[in-house]
Amino acid sequence: MPNIPVVETILNVNDQLAEKNRAIFDRAGLLALNVMASPGGGKTSVIARIIDTLRDEVRIGVMDGDIVALDLESFAAQGIPVSLINTGGNCHLDANMVHSALPTMDLDALDLLIIENVGNLICPAAFKLGSHLNVVIASVPEGSDKPYKYPAMFRGADVLLLNKMDLAAYMDFDVDYFRHGVEVLNPGVAFFPVSCRTGEGLDAWHAWLRARLAEKIQARA
Ligand code: MG
Repeated sequence: MPNIPVVETILNVNDQLAEKNRAIFDRAGLLALNVMASPGGGKTSVIARIIDTLRDEVRIGVMDGDIVALDLESFAAQGIPVSLINTGGNCHLDANMVHSALPTMDLDALDLLIIENVGNLICPAAFKLGSHLNVVIASVPEGSDKPYKYPAMFRGADVLLLNKMDLAAYMDFDVDYFRHGVEVLNPGVAFFPVSCRTGEGLDAWHAWLRARLAEKIQARA
């Protein structure tokens, strides 16, 4: 089988650039998150909640892979450094897009860089960005079969949020089936059922994130 697919070459180049990005993040001493979900799964809401809770404790910046800056406007209005990575309609961010955006932000002035990926559960799973943690968000209205349909995304998660739990009472969402699918792919992954609307479950998730930030900040000294 001598036929090596082109995509493998692309991914190798991407991985090398992702390592460069990681080195830049580490030199700046910040924690970088790659936030991934379906469109409407709650990426921007999860980020808004992080900002509300942690903005007085750590310095936060946000990069958004999107075609319009709509989601960033309220963050920018709060004085959060933001950058739009215009994907030109691409279905995912890659390491090169993130790398190109790095000079737009003073990374030394940040503790936490949140990168909001393009809304998609397939393509973003294949492209490392150099971030430290993959934050994957599923949501109740999407159904409990998502881990079975998009295994790569769930396998690569460092932390998994199940958002819109406030809707669980109105929908046939089988939490046990969902969790079983996740557990097979990614045993022991940190898992937080939350609702960004009601605030349910967010304390536990933010405590987890705060602990990861403390580790990063301690490693600087
Ligand atoms: Mg968004």
